[in-house]
Amino acid sequence: MHASNTPDHILRARLPRWLLPAAWPQQGHQPALADLHLAQGRIVRVLPHGTSPVPQGAVWDVAGALVLPGLVDAHTHLDKAFTLPRMGVVKPGLLGAIDAMMVDRQGWTEADIHARASRALQWAYDAGTVHLRTHCDWWEPDAQPLAWNVQRALAHDWADRITLERVSLIPLHLYADRSIAMRLAATVAASGPGALLGGFVHSTNWDAQALRHLFEAAQHHGMNVDLHVDEELHPGAQGLATTAALLKELRFEGHVVCGHTCALAAQDEATALATLDAVAQSPITLVTLPITNLLLQDATTGRTPRQRGLTLVKEARARGIPVLVASDNVQDPFCPVGSFDPLEALATGVLAAQLDAPFDQWSESLCRTDWLRTGPAALPLQPGAVADLLVFTQADHWGFPSRTQGAQGRVVLRQGRVASGHAPAAWHVPTTQSARSLA
Ligand SMILES: [Zn+2]
Repeated sequence: MHASNTPDHILRARLPRWLLPAAWPQQGHQPALADLHLAQGRIVRVLPHGTSPVPQGAVWDVAGALVLPGLVDAHTHLDKAFTLPRMGVVKPGLLGAIDAMMVDRQGWTEADIHARASRALQWAYDAGTVHLRTHCDWWEPDAQPLAWNVQRALAHDWADRITLERVSLIPLHLYADRSIAMRLAATVAASGPGALLGGFVHSTNWDAQALRHLFEAAQHHGMNVDLHVDEELHPGAQGLATTAALLKELRFEGHVVCGHTCALAAQDEATALATLDAVAQSPITLVTLPITNLLLQDATTGRTPRQRGLTLVKEARARGIPVLVASDNVQDPFCPVGSFDPLEALATGVLAAQLDAPFDQWSESLCRTDWLRTGPAALPLQPGAVADLLVFTQADHWGFPSRTQGAQGRVVLRQGRVASGHAPAAWHVPTTQSARSLA
């Protein structure tokens, strides 16, 4: 007998500690296992194992398997994905990659972008991602890039599978003129729901006035903002500190994501921590991109990197600042590897940032979609929530996230139904036995 593809009950699931209420019982040093009750593709309730009535319907006993809610990939570049195989030699480092990308971009067509981005979305879907944010290169004040329109169509086509948000990745100098900044924001805002104003903020293009215009324009159009900020190890980079100060001064009402912020790691401790104290007082979520930061920061041909290039994730979390871990570039000149699997990014972050308790604590950085918007905190898997779940078939608490990757490593449920992977036959429980054997 095979396990059902639409379980009504998932018994003995190991959920991460961050997801459970403070009063949840302990079993030894770990949280007690959970029973998840589903109906019509939604969560009915989640209770400690054995405390709920005898299950009726299709039952899985996952015997302590790790379970997470659907994943968020907060920072990707669908327009650039999978371009590397057709490029020649690319100079190392961030600026060399930008040069290579500008050459390749001249040959982009709608069909090319659509094919590459669709492949990326399929990989993300198979990985269990339910919410994905993509940054789209935007380099002219008055013309929308081809990729922006393609991604708008893809957001529509994929709406029932992945929530796709699109960020206009605009170089900071285009915001130097306030009227152009306003026009850019109007264009992005008019392109429908899921569009955010973005920018690339770096010490090589630093312009405090332009950054102010960016936020004024976003405020004027009621938009959220997502920036590439201080993606460098120059201690003089001031994008994040200036952003926090501007949000306070403008009483900015939207939500802001600051991606990368690597420079914090290069600054003296007191300066960096003072910036984080200011960030903690503002509506900023940090996104860290361990794979690309390890590859692009402190990168010189023929020289072994000395620095890791990651932002101060532990200090940020200690201050209550939301921190998401995301994929960034995949198989393009910025990053030759990658798979649109957020768990791969987390596995890299666990090593690069020496993260403790990857499952019980840091898996939160792959699941908190609410950290991409303003409003009250909304934990996943609450009663009534859509039953988007990942059940890991190979990894226990100690094998996470190493043994989660690939199709064999997980079963993904969407709206309560298996969408990828295979539920092992051993999970199947005849309903009549369940009360006896599992109590
Ligand atoms: Zn990026």
